[in-house]
Amino acid sequence: MNGISEKTNKKLFELRKDYIRKLPGRYNVIKKLSVDATENGESIATLTDLRINIHKMAGSAATFGLEALTEAAKSFEVYIEELLSKNKTLSGKSSKELIRHLQNIREICADPEKYTDPSDVIYPISDFSDKQEKKIIFVLGEKDSISKDLSEQLGYFGYTVDILNNFSTLKNHMQEARNELLIMNTDVIENKPMTAAAIKKIKDDSNRHLGIIYFSDKDDFNVRLDCVKAGGDDFFTIPLDVSRLIDRVDSLTNDESMNPYHILIVDDDQEQVSYYALLLQQAGMITSVASDPKKVLDILSESKPDLILMDMYMPTCDGTELAAIIRQQEAFVSIPIVFLSFESNKDIQLEAIRLGADDFLTKPIKPSHLISAVASKAERNRQLRYFMERDSLTGLLNHTNIKEALYNEVLRAKRTEVNLCFGMIDIDHFKNVNDTHGHMSGDRVLKSLSRLLQDRLRRTDIIGRYGGEEFAVILLNTDIQNAELIMNNIRQSFSQIRQISTEGDFYVTFSCGLACFPEFKAAADLNSAADQALYAAKDSGRNKIVNISDISGDESPKAAQD
Ligand code: GH3
Ligand code: MG
Ligand code: MG
Repeated sequence: MNGISEKTNKKLFELRKDYIRKLPGRYNVIKKLSVDATENGESIATLTDLRINIHKMAGSAATFGLEALTEAAKSFEVYIEELLSKNKTLSGKSSKELIRHLQNIREICADPEKYTDPSDVIYPISDFSDKQEKKIIFVLGEKDSISKDLSEQLGYFGYTVDILNNFSTLKNHMQEARNELLIMNTDVIENKPMTAAAIKKIKDDSNRHLGIIYFSDKDDFNVRLDCVKAGGDDFFTIPLDVSRLIDRVDSLTNDESMNPYHILIVDDDQEQVSYYALLLQQAGMITSVASDPKKVLDILSESKPDLILMDMYMPTCDGTELAAIIRQQEAFVSIPIVFLSFESNKDIQLEAIRLGADDFLTKPIKPSHLISAVASKAERNRQLRYFMERDSLTGLLNHTNIKEALYNEVLRAKRTEVNLCFGMIDIDHFKNVNDTHGHMSGDRVLKSLSRLLQDRLRRTDIIGRYGGEEFAVILLNTDIQNAELIMNNIRQSFSQIRQISTEGDFYVTFSCGLACFPEFKAAADLNSAADQALYAAKDSGRNKIVNISDISGDESPKAAQD
């Protein structure tokens, strides 16, 4: 894979995503400097500043494979350079050429992916068809109905399943895959101690953890013991409880590096920043840098880091003052702030902590000490945030936080002039599910829908449990036609997921209402429009997606369904 390790690749992917999110901010700086250069007398100094900013944009865009932006910024830079070399200013002029360059950049910054050929980008790109590296599951056994059924059910949750009918080929296949998991019938090992030992050895020898799940139509102590001896992590009986199986498959293939800590470093010293950033990056974290303390609030409102690592003394304002400003904003109250400074005066350190810092690390610091201090504080903050923001059954954003996210994303969509779709989902006849199959089966249905949404939507999309059996999704940068296609696809898959209970297998459907920004310009309007569309979907028969703009007057809505 271009010689880039999987882990680095993921890091680059996250950095790239972050970079793209912040592009409109970078554009605004350039725009402001351009306005200043035409309106303000000190035009040479402003033009120089403008040139540096454009230059940086060209360079960083190139790093992240955004060729169109690199080219646009380069040609803008050439234009400014020419002015500077001829000692010309723009003062008092309205330059058509300047406006053209600005417009070019603005357009690309709003949606850089539109101008990017995916093959130019070395990092995996998040999209609907291949949003994450697939995890491969081997099912050992004949291509019988159980194996086929397993592949189908796991397939709905984004897993690629390979059915191997021969144990000896397992080793070869394993070398090509990542996050492998092996599922097999206990027939494979029963009364075959050599095979059991060989499987255990493959597991022990694999440099990554190979998860193994056995299933059987009998459930007794001896069978379970044989499985444990043959490296089994879990044991299922037939009929397979797909919902529990998916949970287990998820946890056994979970790759922690998928979700690295995001650390914001605030320091005006460029070289030190790079050094600490690299240390943290090598430990698998993602870093952003603010060399100007005044930019910190903007950066925080764009992306919430897991921790802020801050220098104590900076020219415009010192670290304790900045910490106090950050703590005044309710949304940022919980982000840990750790000072890293030469300051060894304990009184000053205590004062910093009193004003809102969580820890004080003194330079020079051993890299391992820095990494472990940062990682443990970031982890703790993540756990706290998880419990505060998420619903305990599904792990999705809770009602308050999905509403807050919608509000923020609408503001961002306005700023960057992109589309956004909001969907309200409600499970059909869910009361019947509870009444017939019990509350626990009902809960499993909720989890299976949450899991399906997480798998099918992009990592950048936002999913919440709105309440009871209602979910909400925010599809970023997506127009209503695409949103309809995506949600309809998910609707179809969901209806095919086999839910099980002691009362027998059953299938569940949902209805969904969609509304889009900019058609609806405020979060509250989007919310009630999507709700109204959902109501129409229910009213016209359920198991369908209704787009609010298709409802007009008394006509019955056009709905996406089979
Ligand atoms: P409709 O198709 O019109 O949406 O019908 P419905 O039965 O789904 O709607 P209704 O609002 O009548 O019932 C929703 C049910 O969802 C009632 C409630 O007991 C159940 N429910 C809400 N939260 C949970 C939960 O966390 N777990 C389980 N198992 N059930 C829940
Ligand atoms: Mg409901
Ligand atoms: Mg319902």
